[in-house]
Amino acid sequence: MNQWEVVIGIETHAQLATVSKIFSGASTAFGAEPNTQACAVDLALPGVLPVLNKKAVECAIRFGLAIGAEVARKSVFARKNYFYPDLPKGYQISQMDLPVVVGGHITLQVGQGDKAYEKVVRLTRAHLEEDAGKSLHEDFHGKSGIDLNRAGTPLLEIVSEPDMRSSDEAVAYAKALHALVQWIGICDGNMQEGSFRCDANVSVRPKGQAEFGTRREIKNLNSFRFLKEAIDFEVQWQINEIEEGRRIQQATVLFDPDSGETRMMRSKEDAHDYRYFPDPDLLPLVRASYRSCRARCASVSSANSACPTTMQRH
Ligand code: ADP
Ligand code: MG
Repeated sequence: MNQWEVVIGIETHAQLATVSKIFSGASTAFGAEPNTQACAVDLALPGVLPVLNKKAVECAIRFGLAIGAEVARKSVFARKNYFYPDLPKGYQISQMDLPVVVGGHITLQVGQGDKAYEKVVRLTRAHLEEDAGKSLHEDFHGKSGIDLNRAGTPLLEIVSEPDMRSSDEAVAYAKALHALVQWIGICDGNMQEGSFRCDANVSVRPKGQAEFGTRREIKNLNSFRFLKEAIDFEVQWQINEIEEGRRIQQATVLFDPDSGETRMMRSKEDAHDYRYFPDPDLLPLVRASYRSCRARCASVSSANSACPTTMQRH
């Protein structure tokens, strides 16, 4: 019988605590009547132009400094093309080849008492993007409603390296990140309202094997308990599949909290399926000078040393 090792990498969407959207002046306040906070840009009316929100950029830079990352000298917004009823433009504005934040790491405390240990998780990147709208499936007598209030809400997508080796480490990482984004004031951390949600990429491999196994990505986990339950179920499912002679196929799956199971949503799309290309409506984001950027964010970096302690208390 093989001994299995679990490999986990996490992608997190943190909603940035700005007053207005990333490319329009519409409000980002939560809970308004549907479609009352969607302006012409968010509705994707023809001829409108996006204008980048400076505050969203400052949040991303602040995050980059807090995790010891490189704030890119130049980053570029790209169109990620796909069709969805709650995405009227037919593409999401995101960043692909040149993200605003590159590298960095977070140090975690995992476990308690004698078993406690420190773990460093490397971050791959963090990039700015807009959220999509929401499809509402209730109250419409067999039809769906579309609410575009959330369309254009600024998100920072934070991508970790596949450095975690258990669901406990994944939860410790998510909690540390959750504490950090609130502590540096870039995200309100409200998980019920979807301000902080995680996708867990999970694979298993025989202990001692150098290559990673094929991963499946569990989408949109908005509680630490669900994150743990979903990973634990998924790991067991993958081990069973392999031990029964089947292969894991790369896929996107959803976690159902009621059954405690993960279920396939779609086979995994690759980046080239989205036909990313630089958005011609937006200029590249260029760092004026490293010094002025440091000066503006000095309050963040000087307080950095206190951060791990703050994170442990959460
Ligand atoms: P995408 O999901 O957009 O295809 P990436 O290929 O960059 O993006 O990977 C997304 C996440 O999956 C990252 O957090 C990465 O660490 C993690 N990951 C990549 N390969 C594996 C693997 N074999 N097992 C577990 N996690 C992985
Ligand atoms: Mg992904």
